[in-house]
Amino acid sequence: MAVIMDGESLARSIKKDIATRVSELGEKGIVPALATILVGEKTFSKTYVRLKERDCKEVGIHFKTHELPEKTSEREVFDLIDALNRDKKVHGILVQMPLPPHLSGTKVVERISPKKDVDGLHPLNVGKLWLGACDFENDLLPCTPKGVMKLLDHYDVELAGKNVVIINRSNLVGKPLSKLMLDRNATVTLCHSKTVGLEKHTRMADVLVTAIGCRPKFLVTEDMVKDQAVVVDVGINCVDDKICGDIDFEKVKKKASKITPVPGGVGPMTRAMLLQNILIAARE
Ligand code: NAD
Repeated sequence: MAVIMDGESLARSIKKDIATRVSELGEKGIVPALATILVGEKTFSKTYVRLKERDCKEVGIHFKTHELPEKTSEREVFDLIDALNRDKKVHGILVQMPLPPHLSGTKVVERISPKKDVDGLHPLNVGKLWLGACDFENDLLPCTPKGVMKLLDHYDVELAGKNVVIINRSNLVGKPLSKLMLDRNATVTLCHSKTVGLEKHTRMADVLVTAIGCRPKFLVTEDMVKDQAVVVDVGINCVDDKICGDIDFEKVKKKASKITPVPGGVGPMTRAMLLQNILIAARE
């Protein structure tokens, strides 16, 4: 039976450490602060922002959200970002995605100062990652890939020389994670919706990462997983009103050597990494 990689408990201890460091900064007169921008009325976006607020408050990070109406123009969003970029009391800026269709997520993220880009998605931060010019602990990296790496490190998963297969090619997950794993000398394959013979790839994986989110249409079953593989499930799905990952957890955990649960695996790590990024930005 696989070891369960408990992201919840690791995230708890990381948050404890962050709270200590926030109070140390407080003694120097710096209160780390996050500003979020929420455009429109999407219920799930509001929930995500509320969770971020709760996480920030838990560790003593100041939090402010700017709720803008659905019809807000690009100019108005840019003006708000410019003001937050100038505000010395704001260290991190996060625009909750997705934006309404008339706004370009790429252009909006580009407007944020790279030093306040706590999602790690600004082209400058992305470029530094791909050029090998960033420091894993001290630069702004996307939260989910960073959280996955921290979790694997905590559970002593060796990556050098291993075959890693990631089912996802997004800017948020697959692409940055592939680079972080490449930096650890893994041989990385990125699979996606157009991959032919997906199982052929996944069965070769010493480390399999999934971030698909297409259940019930698509489930990663035990026959797709190599014996004793390390399995990381990033996906978030809702099946029968319950949150679950991409993987047939009960069956795959009997075959894998280590596995993340959903919920309680990568999700809490992602949230903890956002707090860590705010701290990094505040120390700048
Ligand atoms: P996305 O839609 O950009 O990515 C989905 C990926 O799945 C794509 O790369 C696509 O090619 C691939 N895919 C879809 N159907 C497939 C199929 N049949 N076979 C193979 N590949 C297929 O979304 P995203 O933002 O990258 O998020 C992906 C999932 O990860 C979602 O469920 C999301 O909720 C979850 N997620 C979780 C966290 C977390 O902290 N746990 C963070 C980010 C994203």
